[in-house]
Amino acid sequence: MTEETDNGIGGVHIKYLLHCPRQLWLYSRGYRPEQNNSSVAFGEALDATTYTRRRDIDLGEAKIDWVTTGAVVHETKSSRTPSPQHEAQVRHYCLLLARLGVNIARGVVHYPLVRRTTEVAWDAFARAEAEKTEQAAKDVIAADQPAPRLPRSRCRGCSYRDYCWGDL
Ligand code: SF4
Repeated sequence: MTEETDNGIGGVHIKYLLHCPRQLWLYSRGYRPEQNNSSVAFGEALDATTYTRRRDIDLGEAKIDWVTTGAVVHETKSSRTPSPQHEAQVRHYCLLLARLGVNIARGVVHYPLVRRTTEVAWDAFARAEAEKTEQAAKDVIAADQPAPRLPRSRCRGCSYRDYCWGDL
């Protein structure tokens, strides 16, 4: 892994950035309450059992679920609802692999609980989006102070609520 590709920004960083920049800032400083979160454990269990023949790809911070012939990047989600965050995560993985010289075809997000998939395009526009998102994550992490809290109504289900609101 070269410095250019392994810049410490993984899929979790992208997910947190797009959910809440404050969450990303806290995560980057080692605050990890999600390790005790049952929904995270459920996602990990589903992840470990759904597609047993796949092979994960470890790019340091980024763990890609699997890549099939023709360089299609796959990501499995325990969520029932497709989200732009999931697509952004896959674009980030495509970016990391493209920097390693892989000629990426596209991405696919799998939602086994609802038997759905979402296609993620990989082209010049997608690459520019991925680079912009990656830079935004770096900017948040580099800040001296955490980003402001989101409106409380958007914090439901966030495992960082005890830190932000003291009410878990
Ligand atoms: S509790 Fe709210 S403000 Fe705090 S990290 Fe989570 S979403 Fe962001």
